[in-house]
Amino acid sequence: MKVGIVGAGQVGSSAAYAMALMGVGTEIVLIDRDADLAEAQAQDIAHAIPFAEPVIVRAAGYDSLTEAAVVIIAAGVSQKPGESRLDLLDRNVAVFREVVGSVMTHAPDAILLVASNPVDVMTFATWKLSGLAAERVVGSGTILDTARFRSLLGAHLGIAPQSVHAYVLGEHGDSEVSIWSSATAGNVPITSFADQVGRPLGPEIREEIGQNVRDAAYTIIAGKGATYYGIGAGLARIVRAILDDEKAVFSVSVTMPEICGFSEVALSLPRIVGKDGAIADLMPALDEGEREALTASAKVISDLSTSLTF
Ligand code: ADP
Repeated sequence: MKVGIVGAGQVGSSAAYAMALMGVGTEIVLIDRDADLAEAQAQDIAHAIPFAEPVIVRAAGYDSLTEAAVVIIAAGVSQKPGESRLDLLDRNVAVFREVVGSVMTHAPDAILLVASNPVDVMTFATWKLSGLAAERVVGSGTILDTARFRSLLGAHLGIAPQSVHAYVLGEHGDSEVSIWSSATAGNVPITSFADQVGRPLGPEIREEIGQNVRDAAYTIIAGKGATYYGIGAGLARIVRAILDDEKAVFSVSVTMPEICGFSEVALSLPRIVGKDGAIADLMPALDEGEREALTASAKVISDLSTSLTF
């Protein structure tokens, strides 16, 4: 099956590379305003194919998106010195106006997977600009934050992260909310398990883990300027879930008619992902503090989203 990627920069190309190594899809089409960049990325990744899975990777124009099942949108502009977050957002929405319009002309039946930041607001903008049903416009949201939360909890408790069932909800950003109250290790509440193994999850360790999850991207950016391998692999994993109609659960971002008193806000909740997009939400039980934090997170996204004009 064909997968399109618009934006062949660091994130888009890492997603293509991860898909090639994982054998996700049969054909990957890379599109970028910078055609030479798209061509170079496609060739570089194509040279990995003999060592990986038989996926075709090529650079092309929007007309090659015909019949793509999924289109990843990883295009964007970077912040200019002194530019405010809101000005940057306006410029990225202008990019998306052009990109989403072109994608919809050639692949109106594709699921759109949004990776550009701020991902929740860009997911909302893509939903608005595309006119698609909300569940067909999926943002990568907190997939990485959730993965990191699970691995930190797993390391603390001496259990594989795959056996930790815990999610980070809300904004992919500073206001995100790690959910402790319904987290489990296997089928045991995480706090009971932590007590059983003599590694109690008191307020200090919770704060440390939550902080570590929130600051992970900052730490990587301080060291290498950007983050792309982790999100590239995460995007490849979501594309596989869509192409294979897995109905697996991921904390992805989708625009909701109403959440925590705000209307038309895109944020992450655990959601079932398959060929029709993010088809259902699994709203976990929240304690009062978590509910308040999720409301604050929804407000941050809502304030940015309502500042946009379409
Ligand atoms: P990231 O680290 O988020 O991947 P990059 O700057 O490496 O950021 O990649 C963003 C890519 O988006 C760039 O390759 C840029 O050329 C591309 N891009 C920007 N605007 C458009 C557009 N209007 N159409 C297609 N691609 C675009």
